[in-house]
Amino acid sequence: MTGDRQSGSSEDLLTFDRRHLWHPYTSIDQPLPVYPVCSADGVRLRLTDGRQLVDGMASWWSVIHGYNHPVLTHALQEQAGRLSHVMFGGLTHEPAVELGRLLLQLTPDGLDKVFFCDSGSVAVEVAMKMAIQYWHALGRPGKNRFLTIKSGYHGDTFHAMSVCDPITGMHQLYQGILPQQFFAERPECGFYDTWDAGDIRSFSDLLESHRDEICAVILEPIVQGAGGMRFYHPEYLRQVRRLCDEHDVLLIADEIATGFGRSGRLFACEHAAVSPDIMCLGKALTGGYMTLAAVLATARVGQIISSGDPGVFMHGPTFMANPLACRVAAASINLLIENDWQVQVERIADQLRQGLAPCRNHDHVLDVRVLGAIGVVELQRPVQMALMQQRFVERGVWVRPFGRLVYVMPPYCMGDADLQMLTSAICEVVAMEAGA
Ligand code: PMP
Repeated sequence: MTGDRQSGSSEDLLTFDRRHLWHPYTSIDQPLPVYPVCSADGVRLRLTDGRQLVDGMASWWSVIHGYNHPVLTHALQEQAGRLSHVMFGGLTHEPAVELGRLLLQLTPDGLDKVFFCDSGSVAVEVAMKMAIQYWHALGRPGKNRFLTIKSGYHGDTFHAMSVCDPITGMHQLYQGILPQQFFAERPECGFYDTWDAGDIRSFSDLLESHRDEICAVILEPIVQGAGGMRFYHPEYLRQVRRLCDEHDVLLIADEIATGFGRSGRLFACEHAAVSPDIMCLGKALTGGYMTLAAVLATARVGQIISSGDPGVFMHGPTFMANPLACRVAAASINLLIENDWQVQVERIADQLRQGLAPCRNHDHVLDVRVLGAIGVVELQRPVQMALMQQRFVERGVWVRPFGRLVYVMPPYCMGDADLQMLTSAICEVVAMEAGA
């Protein structure tokens, strides 16, 4: 393709896109700028104008092995030649069994039943439905509300929205429509702080007062992602587990963002040596190749649900356990284990700590924090997203800030020079925000 034709077609593409396509959280009248990508390889996105960007976002936590990985592409192609899709009602297949086996081997003890579904938000819906059905089956249908913590994010479908942060989430807009849940104060004790026993009080008071209405606690273990990119103390999570047991309430761990090594442990629950009753996985499950999520539950949860009325778990998506997605997910997990992910993530953590430290010198920066392969620079004021994004693109990196947060979660295979380029760009662009 010649340069002329390329720029011509990219112009057409952008014109159509601007007129007709929604992007996440955007206005159709005043769309934010978008950059056309034509291919991606390793840690680089290639734009249609030939520019290459080092990707700091891993496509929102998912592309842990980098783009166009030969092993994953091969797994997908090979599976496509055999069985791309088949209904999971009344049929089963090897990719689903292989993936189920791997997940049960690797996830915290006690999880024994796997429900495959389409996306993170749907996984959260499924987990919440499991908790409601569990208590229904036990003859306690009044236990049908959820306790969560402020600053959380669990997805954009209705029950998922109902447990997102009440201020930054969509509660106002959907007032009267969203189910009403209980919100404990967010943990203030950071991951590296000394534990303060008072931090769990709001949570424990709510749980104690409403134990007869609450079917489950749902939270993001250790890392609160889209609700604020906060890392809280492992003791908080240990206390949550203890209190759930004490008050007869299930614990749902939403590991959709944290799963598969991102926080420095394979699953963030491991920081606190905690096993949930139900766990949601998504995002990096397929190495970012396609959408797939899984909800894991203990044998007890599975048995109780199945023993009550109507005797089955009431959910069954058309694309449940899609063989392409299951095959590529199994290949991604095997790759993760073979690749010594812990060394990779620790190396990235060290580089992010060093590379982002200069941001601390600015008055307009509130905090710089790193956990595993996640780096966050929190500013005093919201950033101008479009302008900041453009500045990053001019420096050859892809970083998409939101609100007051500039954050990165690179693919684990990112080399030192690219990490250096990413952190230098962040330091420069954050410095330009002073007085903005
Ligand atoms: N839970 C968490 C913790 C998430 O970070 C997200 C996605 N940002 C979701 C749920 C929803 O996942 P999806 O976007 O795949 O629906």
